Amino acid sequence: MALLYLRHTMDEKTIQVVKNLLKSQQKIIIIGHKNPDGDAIGSCLGLSFFLRSQGHKTQVVMPNDFPSFLKWLPGVEEIVIHEQDVKTSTKLIDDANVIFTLDFNSLGRVGDLQLILEKSEANFVMIDHHQQPDDYAVATYSDVSMSSTCEMVFHFMDALGQADKLNKEIATNLYTGIMTDTGSFRYPSTTSTTHRVTAKLIDAGAKSAAIHQNIYDTNSMDRMKLLGLALNNLKVLPEYNTAYITLTQKDLDDHNFKKGDTEGFVNYALSISGVIFAVIFIENKQENIVKISLRSKGDFSVNEFSRNHYSGGGHTNAAGGKSSQSLNETVTEFISILPRYKNELTHA
Ligand code: 5GP
Ligand code: MN
Repeated sequence: MALLYLRHTMDEKTIQVVKNLLKSQQKIIIIGHKNPDGDAIGSCLGLSFFLRSQGHKTQVVMPNDFPSFLKWLPGVEEIVIHEQDVKTSTKLIDDANVIFTLDFNSLGRVGDLQLILEKSEANFVMIDHHQQPDDYAVATYSDVSMSSTCEMVFHFMDALGQADKLNKEIATNLYTGIMTDTGSFRYPSTTSTTHRVTAKLIDAGAKSAAIHQNIYDTNSMDRMKLLGLALNNLKVLPEYNTAYITLTQKDLDDHNFKKGDTEGFVNYALSISGVIFAVIFIENKQENIVKISLRSKGDFSVNEFSRNHYSGGGHTNAAGGKSSQSLNETVTEFISILPRYKNELTHA
């Protein structure tokens, strides 16, 4: 067995269950969450390349489409998008022996795929770093202290004694997800171990500067103008150290909105001096919801806030959710909720 490169947090029992599951060739489906981000896509593709190197048949399935700035990743052309090809994805899932669910903690996070997954008789394996994971898998590798699911996929390979199987395709995918989930290695979830893993990925062929450019330097003028509008709409509530941004469906339509265009906007609100809680409310007329992204600094838990008010969740400092009220009602309600959190928001 190859030597472990780094200390991992997978327990022995879970490792044994996974080893047993993967003893013989399996038909494996790997699934990320709805509205997949860099960590979801990167971890699924990275794991897929790894499991193939072990002789398994693998297929990545995503609930819906994802931003074009992720569409250069190695293996991305093979992903089946459920929303675009229900028949194929349903058949693939029905035929699978093993289903890996990555970067989410509850089957409610996969949209319409939920019912199909619930009917499946395959063995589930969860690899995830979100808080309060559900218990649906025969092997659950959950660690909320991890920077990203991509970092966990490296530890997963390492725990199986297979870290030496890292290659350029795996490394490029995992590097991308670690980079996007850590805000380019600056969020508190970035540890020295994250950097050690990242160093291994670079040694294995991940090109850090090129990956950064592929993800972040592909802005359209429409997106820049939409950012300008978002910043114009930014409001600060100094008595709660809170800032929020709103975007209407018309704002999006006027700027030829494409998936991923609003990613990162909420961080501008959080970057204001003194602000520890930032939210963006984005109207989505097609789904008849307001999509909400929440960010915080320090101990204020947006995971809790989103669970309590927006049927959502995530991490302490980054979470998402939705509201079925109108945009105006959602914002009015948000402002009316804040006094309940005044202590936490002002004594951080
Ligand atoms: P974002 O605001 O970038 O969409 O998501 C921030 C974090 O919250 C991510 O880790 C994401 O997986 C999680 N998240 C986003 N939307 C939801 C949601 O509706 N429900 C739950 N449980 N988590 C979400
Ligand atoms: Mn993640």
